[in-house]
Amino acid sequence: MSFFSGKVVIVTGSSNGIGRGTAVLFSKEGAKVAITGRDPATLEETKQLCLQAGANEDGILDLIGDVTDASFIEKLVAATVEKFGQIDVLVNNAGGASFSGFGKGVMDTPLAEFDKMIELNVKSVLRLSQLAVPHLVKTKGAIVNVSSIAAFHEISPMPYYSVAKSALDQATVQMAGCLIKEGVRVNSVNPGPVLTNAFATAGASTDQQDKMFSTRLPTIPLGRIGTPLDIGKLILFLADRSQSEILIGHILTADGGCHLKSAMFPEA
Ligand code: NDP
Repeated sequence: MSFFSGKVVIVTGSSNGIGRGTAVLFSKEGAKVAITGRDPATLEETKQLCLQAGANEDGILDLIGDVTDASFIEKLVAATVEKFGQIDVLVNNAGGASFSGFGKGVMDTPLAEFDKMIELNVKSVLRLSQLAVPHLVKTKGAIVNVSSIAAFHEISPMPYYSVAKSALDQATVQMAGCLIKEGVRVNSVNPGPVLTNAFATAGASTDQQDKMFSTRLPTIPLGRIGTPLDIGKLILFLADRSQSEILIGHILTADGGCHLKSAMFPEA
């Protein structure tokens, strides 16, 4: 029997991309999933994919809302516990970048952008985790945060996204240290480029997206861009105590080997 059979999992940002791939994998493993996003049409698509993967209608809770809205976060936790009685895994995946700094760099990008990136990528994660923890303590559960390799590098088109994901990594470390005392494991997966709508959502034009992906490809030793399922499999691994119990506060880079490349000789 799968480790996740009958377990209750919240995946934020599951109306698309990495979160959708992750929710489908959890459904395949027999978990009950709470899926969320802001777009009802794409959330419904995720729901149908989860059903096709083996979930029962009763095993899915779909809720529309914005993770930066504190009242929605409260509703998400309360509705999950009301429907399923417990929470075993929280995947803090919702997040994203903004291309409004494109061509400007950190010194010329307005600080309002910083607030936006911190609110979406860090504060929403802390807020939801604080509310979910009492339930995760009861189940000796796990939290997996979805960060980015942007946390380690200068990504000049979206400087405050990098700042926010770095802060998220430190939040992962802080949460891991404090929650393992109560039996809850916290880890992070930090993807490199993954083929999703993320860049379009961030406001990148089609030209900018084409440029990003075509210039990235030669610098990825694996020879291909990541997929939502590549990352979803790692999220399940980090959430599965039977596989990864020894990992606590681990920042797992998932970039097809991009980090092996020197900035001076990216093509070597
Ligand atoms: P997508 O744009 O494909 O999906 C993002 C998901 O997050 C959507 O379901 C979206 O919902 C949801 N979301 C975004 N903002 C909010 C919000 N304010 N409230 C509620 N839901 C929200 O992007 P990815 O799947 O690529 O991104 C998932 C995570 O992976 C993010 O944290 C991102 O930073 C990270 N990441 C992505 C990389 C990539 O190359 N794609 C690389 C490294 C990290 P909706 O569309 O319904 O609004």
